[in-house]
Amino acid sequence: MNLDQFNDRQKEAILATEGPLLILAGAGSGKTTVVVNKIAYILEQSLARPYQILAITFTNKAANELKDRVEGLIGDGAEGMWIGTFHSVCMKILRRNISLLGYASDFLIYDSADQKTLIKRCLKELGMDEKTFPPKSMLAEISNAKDNLMEPDVFLAAYNGDFRMTKVGELYKLYQKRLFEANALDFDDIIILTVKLFSLDAEVLEFYQNKFRYVFVDEYQDTNNAQYLLTSQLAGKYRNICVVGDDDQSIYKFRGANINNILDFEKEFDQAKVIKLEQNYRSTQNILNAANCVIANNAGRKGKELWTSNGAGDKILLFEADNEYEEADYIGKTIEKLVKVDGMRYCDCAILYRTNVQSRVLETTLSGFGIPYRVLAGLRFYDRKEIKDMLAYLRLVFNPNDNLSLMRVVNEPSRKIGVTTVEKVAAAAAGRDISMFAAMEIADTIPELAKVTEKLLTFTKLIREIQTDTDQTQPSKIIEAVYKRSGYMDMLLSEDSVENQTRIENIQEFILSAEEYEKSSEEPTLFEFLENTALIADVDNYDTEADSVVLMTLHSAKGLEFPAVFLCGLEEGLFPSQRSMYSEEEIEEERRLCYVGITRAKKRLTLSYAMRRSMYGGSVYSKASRFLDEIPQQYVDIVEADRSPKTEVGGRKKAKSQSDLFQEIFERKSAGVRTEPVSYDFKAGDMVVHKKFGTGMILSVTPAGGDVKLEIVFDEVGTKSLMGSFARLKKA
Ligand code: ATP
Ligand code: MG
Repeated sequence: MNLDQFNDRQKEAILATEGPLLILAGAGSGKTTVVVNKIAYILEQSLARPYQILAITFTNKAANELKDRVEGLIGDGAEGMWIGTFHSVCMKILRRNISLLGYASDFLIYDSADQKTLIKRCLKELGMDEKTFPPKSMLAEISNAKDNLMEPDVFLAAYNGDFRMTKVGELYKLYQKRLFEANALDFDDIIILTVKLFSLDAEVLEFYQNKFRYVFVDEYQDTNNAQYLLTSQLAGKYRNICVVGDDDQSIYKFRGANINNILDFEKEFDQAKVIKLEQNYRSTQNILNAANCVIANNAGRKGKELWTSNGAGDKILLFEADNEYEEADYIGKTIEKLVKVDGMRYCDCAILYRTNVQSRVLETTLSGFGIPYRVLAGLRFYDRKEIKDMLAYLRLVFNPNDNLSLMRVVNEPSRKIGVTTVEKVAAAAAGRDISMFAAMEIADTIPELAKVTEKLLTFTKLIREIQTDTDQTQPSKIIEAVYKRSGYMDMLLSEDSVENQTRIENIQEFILSAEEYEKSSEEPTLFEFLENTALIADVDNYDTEADSVVLMTLHSAKGLEFPAVFLCGLEEGLFPSQRSMYSEEEIEEERRLCYVGITRAKKRLTLSYAMRRSMYGGSVYSKASRFLDEIPQQYVDIVEADRSPKTEVGGRKKAKSQSDLFQEIFERKSAGVRTEPVSYDFKAGDMVVHKKFGTGMILSVTPAGGDVKLEIVFDEVGTKSLMGSFARLKKA
């Protein structure tokens, strides 16, 4: 390894392989770089074998990057290293050893939706009122207790005599009991059960202590108590522990992160070496100055100034939008320009926001521009199995020829249509050049399907009935019909488990979202609703390697870097969040988050905010975030909004309604993407008969999403827009 590429402090840190080491340094100063190179150095010098190395960080993305970077340096030799998040590392250990704690090794993980369902059930069972004991804060209390390694009995003893906390303790106890009965773990359990396992079983602990000769923790400032204990346990034998972090980037206090873990490292591990890095290699001076100025407003910090030899660079751009659509539109246009004019790639751009809800409008707008993007998030609503199933049913109702959707739900719930049958249907369909659904409808004429004809017809009839009985202008009603008539509801009700309860609630939420859509759209249709959700739901179709813009919350951006960063929604009440506004301590945490955001940018930083934003079911007016005031004007260029006169109403730009926006996207998509227009038998001027609307004349035929959109004026009901494959028209 050529150590000349590093500055002296970095070199020192790489070479200090033995004993406890703390690297405390600001953003972009090469902390992670040191970790990567140190691991490579250790392997290169044969100080350890790959499986003797454990490296922990906070997000899956960061873990993957760490792994890639080490592999990039030493090639295949990196195999067998344990590089992951706290959760993934603990999961690995628990899958092997959890039986010692009485759980079975195929335990389930309850996500936050499941946790909420469970806590509500426990509240009910104990006769505790949700208003007095709000589920969310109850879960927070429990999480807090777990982080402090307080088991229910200890908790109860500690709060003996305190009426309210005793109730909370009882709830905690029941919650934990139910988890255990279901052989399930919540997120906190994953960590604390590992710690518990290690404290109860010296042999298991010893095994891992012997195994991991070198332990690394990146982003150490965000470890909580349990994570701190875990690291100490694991490094207990060799004491070759290297932790890196930045006190200015501590952003997980709400999850119990304890900044003292980093500040007290020297006390905790005696003879620990501490190395500070000050040169930033990531950003331009303008970006760095802005970051330094913002964070300087925090009182409780050690204080450090970053410098760079990168040059001033472009000024930071600031865009003041009228509303969130204009903001998204500006971001979309700027990305187009960066890619088409400045030669950047989509994957060089990241859009960062304070809360996940902000992503929806951005996603819609980017799709409209035809900009490939990816959303980095946990298990999103639309990724949940039950929502995917409902969507597949809806697509099938909309277009029975959608084979993929058919395969997804034909046996969900079970109709005893097994894989072999599905294969036979697929073969029969392929042979006749028709869709699977069409083959199923004529199953009685296909000898291979003779035995299962009845089951197949029951399914096709179900879909046909839902098509005819429901009104396609009311997607919510169609979902309800699907849910009830397909047997899905009965399936979920048949077993009274926490998972099923969560699924039921998610489907109710999905129905609600359809109702909201119906209210917001001028002319709601099932097609538009599906199009609308597909924009959000199909994100997982994007390949992680693909060249796409990435969207994520500021929290998940930690440790990453991008040539161009868009930091949006800089409004008081959103960022800093409403919740944080009453406490200086919390404002400081938000400010650190802002510092994290700014320092992700290498070359271009674009800040934006909207004066008006739809939130909480209404329009909220806000002023610019205080963090914007903290950035001196000399580093910033203010961008004027380009508001063309024709959309101006009384001097203000009229906000585009969501349906306008979808319409636009729809048009752009159908204009741009469609290469082979589907030919239907219909053309403008034809007279047709519709089962429900009667006789009418086709006004226009427009290709759309593999189908055609027909505009028809009916004698009795006036003009309607219908999708070709759905309308099932006959020539008059
Ligand atoms: P953060 O606090 O955001 O996690 P960090 O301290 O971990 O930042 P790195 O991500 O390791 O910083 O480094 C930031 C950038 O600087 C990277 O692109 C890295 O390749 C580059 N870099 C680090 N050290 C050097 C060096 N000595 N010479 C040139 N580039 C360097
Ligand atoms: Mg880092």
